[in-house]
Amino acid sequence: AVPVLTIDGPSGAGKGTVSRLVARRLGWHYLDSGALYRAVGVAASWADLDLSDAAALVRCTFDTEVRFREQGEGDLRVLVNGVDATGELRLETTGTVASAIAAIPEVRAALKERQRAFRTAPGLVADGRDMGTVIFPDAPFKVFLTASAQERADRRYKQLNDKGVSVTLDGLLREILARDARDAQRTVAPLRPAEDAVLLDSTGMPIEAVVDKVLSLVRP
Ligand code: C5P
Repeated sequence: AVPVLTIDGPSGAGKGTVSRLVARRLGWHYLDSGALYRAVGVAASWADLDLSDAAALVRCTFDTEVRFREQGEGDLRVLVNGVDATGELRLETTGTVASAIAAIPEVRAALKERQRAFRTAPGLVADGRDMGTVIFPDAPFKVFLTASAQERADRRYKQLNDKGVSVTLDGLLREILARDARDAQRTVAPLRPAEDAVLLDSTGMPIEAVVDKVLSLVRP
């Protein structure tokens, strides 16, 4: 079977950055599963769908075409129904919509096979919440990446500040704690490590050290 490395964990733990770097170093494909949920969220906003209309959101999931296109060195663009939605995808509001949509079981089921289709040679690094538990339970390599809420808020604060977005550290920390609680407590695919996942707390670790640690699991 084509090898898979799953990297699950809460938002802001550095999964995206670490997964991309590890995938590049291994020469493996990369799946940003959160982007799929975000893409459906963007398509739902474009269609002005009501977030409480589960049936419409499920139809929207089936109807939304998502393509990833690498444009130059490390610049991954996401096309939603053929339109480059990369910027809109990263918005905080899109994350909130995605997290509401991700709580619908039929939406998760509809995206299951689409995620599994990314498993092609020579290997896949899959980044998300349920990669090791639901989508690729037989993956030979599983990591559960965390960082303290304070550190995740600090990182997010710096990112947003660099982009000139005005936010408060306190507000971000509150948002992160609320999202953690929602993601952990939801009845559909609650966030939890797979039993055979290696727990990695990146608090205080430079990104390169995290990447090396993850790589050492795949290539000891
Ligand atoms: O990781 P990202 O912030 O892009 O994910 C957006 C939202 O999509 C998360 O808050 C989570 O609720 C949902 N999600 C999920 N399962 C995944 C990836 C993301 O439920 N595998």
